[in-house]
Amino acid sequence: MSTPQIAIIGGGPGGLITAYTLQKILDRPARITLFEASGRLGGKILTPQFRSAPVRYEAGAAEFYDYSMFDEDPLKDLIAELGLPIRRMGGPAVIMRNRILANMDDIRDQLGTRSYQAVSQFDRMAKDHMTPQEFYYSDYPEGRAAPPLTERFNAVMADVAEPQARQFIENLIHSDLATEPKQTSVPYGLQNYLMNDPAYMDLYGIEGGNELLPQALIARINAVIRLEHIVQSVSRHENQMRVVSTHRGVTRQDDFDYVVVALPHNHLKSVAFPGDRLTPAIERHYAHYHYPAHYLRITILFQTPFWRQAFEDSYWMLDQFGGCCLYDESSRDPNCVHGVLGWLLAGESVPQKSPLSDEQLIAEALDSLPDFLAHGRSEFVEGRVHRWAGAVNALPGGVLPQPHDQRHRPEPIEHPHLFLVGDYLYDSTLNGVLDSAEYVAGWIAAQLAATSQENR
Ligand SMILES: Cc1cc2nc3c(=O)[nH]c(=O)nc-3n(C[C@H](O)[C@H](O)[C@H](O)COP(=O)(O)OP(=O)(O)OC[C@H]3O[C@@H](n4cnc5c(N)ncnc54)[C@H](O)[C@@H]3O)c2cc1C
Repeated sequence: MSTPQIAIIGGGPGGLITAYTLQKILDRPARITLFEASGRLGGKILTPQFRSAPVRYEAGAAEFYDYSMFDEDPLKDLIAELGLPIRRMGGPAVIMRNRILANMDDIRDQLGTRSYQAVSQFDRMAKDHMTPQEFYYSDYPEGRAAPPLTERFNAVMADVAEPQARQFIENLIHSDLATEPKQTSVPYGLQNYLMNDPAYMDLYGIEGGNELLPQALIARINAVIRLEHIVQSVSRHENQMRVVSTHRGVTRQDDFDYVVVALPHNHLKSVAFPGDRLTPAIERHYAHYHYPAHYLRITILFQTPFWRQAFEDSYWMLDQFGGCCLYDESSRDPNCVHGVLGWLLAGESVPQKSPLSDEQLIAEALDSLPDFLAHGRSEFVEGRVHRWAGAVNALPGGVLPQPHDQRHRPEPIEHPHLFLVGDYLYDSTLNGVLDSAEYVAGWIAAQLAATSQENR
């Protein structure tokens, strides 16, 4: 194999990081072709502007998870390598029944001693379950967890006897989970609670918008980029892999030495994988990770950030829509004179609310403001809605975490050069999709290096 031909399907962060990493680590030049169904690269990292004013907001991935206090943090390293400045994000207070609960003292003062004790007990239990170091390594289990993660997180929540304490915890974690406690595992539920503690994790965004990350990658990737190419099927053809795609109604087929399918779980079924071994292998893979979770974003531009006297943080949790996160999107830009609030609805509320029109959703968001901020409705300028049903995973990794090779190569016998990359294989985040992309890129690089050795 002289110049390897490599196809990457999906131009989101997973596909872009795979291309960038391959380019860096391969022992020879390769011809990389990237197929993207839409007219834009970047996937769910999306930083649009309002129509009424040139004010940015995050419509997809909101923040990056910072693990650098423990050890390696490849995502933060990549962002630094690309020269992108970052801004730390702070939170989260919970607003419950129009009261601000920013710390344990607030919980005792506002919810009473019994709720305080119940939250403290839950907090101790969660921290006993997992130290910050264990948290750092928890997304990287090799092979099967023993016992399998069949117990659901609602069993743990049921032990929180005080209803107000339970509601506080559920509001705190609901938007990170993107699902209901009964649909996820105990470790994943506890991790989403612990990540609110700075001893376990910090958060940051990219100054100028998170979409600068995919843009910086695109600027450095030397690949054939096929925008508006919807991949229809991937299959083996003689000794190569065949990719069939359609572009504005015209079908084309291309053969490659390697194919990397960098699609989120909810898009896997948009591609056919014909073959006696391949079809059932992909079916098994899909079923193993089929725990859909949902988001919906409502973002509103106001004349001023009228809430700043009450809050200075980047985000808070709100006891509305079953527990949602409210981002101060305008806090990302110190020069922004407008105010921007972003509601991140999650879990079961999303399929309920998605059928509503944008206007209805914007009105419901305004209605959900706590009483002490309701006066800000008069400052409304413009609202935008972004629907993300099924776009994330309620139980990433599945009930039985698979060995890494199995996660990424679904059918090794007849399709050893077909790889999958996805956040759902790890923790449903950008850190996870980067781990996955680097794993696959490293594997392909090692295979190619081995063929060079053999040919000597
Ligand atoms: C609302 C929301 C908030 C989030 N917040 C965070 C956060 O704060 N922090 C965090 O770390 N993560 C967050 N995430 C998760 C993060 O966005 C994902 O981990 C990341 O986008 C996964 O990248 P990906 O490349 O696998 O998928 P995507 O970003 O979905 O990209 C996949 C690409 O494949 C393309 N595609 C699909 N089908 C085909 C086909 N048949 N042919 C060709 N191309 C195709 C799509 O058009 C898309 O461009 C959030 C997700 C959502 C929805």
